[in-house]
Amino acid sequence: MSSSYEVPKGKNIRIYLNGNENGYNPFKENLKNSLNSLENLSINRYPNNDYEALKALYAEYVNLSAENVIVGNGSDEMLNLVISNYINHGKVLVTLNPDFGMYDFYCSMNEGTIKKFNINLNEGPIDIWEFIEFSKEEKADLIIFSNPNNPTGMAFSRDEIIEILDNLKNTIILVDEAYYEFFGQSVVDLVESYDNLLVTRTLSKAWGMAALRVGFLIGGRKVIKELSKLKVPYNINSYSNMIATNNLKYKEIMIESADKIVKEREFLFKKLKEFNNEDIKFYKSNGNYIFGMGKGTHKLGKLLEEDGILIRDFNNNSIRITVGSREENIVLIKSIERIIKGRLLWEE
Ligand code: PMP
Repeated sequence: MSSSYEVPKGKNIRIYLNGNENGYNPFKENLKNSLNSLENLSINRYPNNDYEALKALYAEYVNLSAENVIVGNGSDEMLNLVISNYINHGKVLVTLNPDFGMYDFYCSMNEGTIKKFNINLNEGPIDIWEFIEFSKEEKADLIIFSNPNNPTGMAFSRDEIIEILDNLKNTIILVDEAYYEFFGQSVVDLVESYDNLLVTRTLSKAWGMAALRVGFLIGGRKVIKELSKLKVPYNINSYSNMIATNNLKYKEIMIESADKIVKEREFLFKKLKEFNNEDIKFYKSNGNYIFGMGKGTHKLGKLLEEDGILIRDFNNNSIRITVGSREENIVLIKSIERIIKGRLLWEE
């Protein structure tokens, strides 16, 4: 590969490919506008608990009304709100294995039982009829999955989710669309037609505002009205509210950045899959990250860290690498190339 970028030596250079954030920081320039208006902020006052402008702008982005939306302190808070409403002792939450770890966390906090349907990436896509059957057998009270799935990058198509909704009409199904913008398919438009559908979204990923902690719960007006009663007051601080509200007006900035990441993902995947062997295999992804599995993954994570590159090691023979900028990806690829060609994964 022709590039002037060299593999960093030592721990001085840090490349963060572990948190699935948007490394381009697309609203960096825009932040100055928001900060200019900061002086009008009355920090002695509580925020207005309705977050009307923020809600209205996000509702416009998803083509729904503000009554379909609850604003959360990250989508994490909204996952907690939904799980604590539907899960308690004796109730069953069905999810996928692997999936986002916080589903487990909130389920056990509420003393619920979690049942996981295994994703077998090497056996091809999930058979949704088997997943529906599994959910029925386990008597799911609530089903949650991320789509695209974090960490594997696999995704159910919109039609498959409709099939799930139609066949589990009495079960609440929360589709966590944290990575929607890198995939392009959503079911958010169906919330008024399906009583059993809830969707979470976030500003932490494609929108590049992870530090602000802003996410959304979206559903039919009736259920959103009920669930709103469980939201804690003033959950978004006034700074986050102001900056997020300002940035949501510039959807095109986010779209340009997300498109760039999707192109980078395909570039990175093309290179990474050339390294596939019996000890490590990378999988095609619909998110802003690439999943790798095999017994060499843990060592790879450690060696990359020595090169100053942080990835996510799940310590179960699997890793997840967030798609970085072209420069970061090239450094990463060179580092992996050096590790694999030098047979360092096999050294004790
Ligand atoms: N869902 C999924 C699938 C995630 O990966 C994450 C963050 N890693 C979240 C939800 C939570 O995101 P946030 O609280 O930042 O909105």
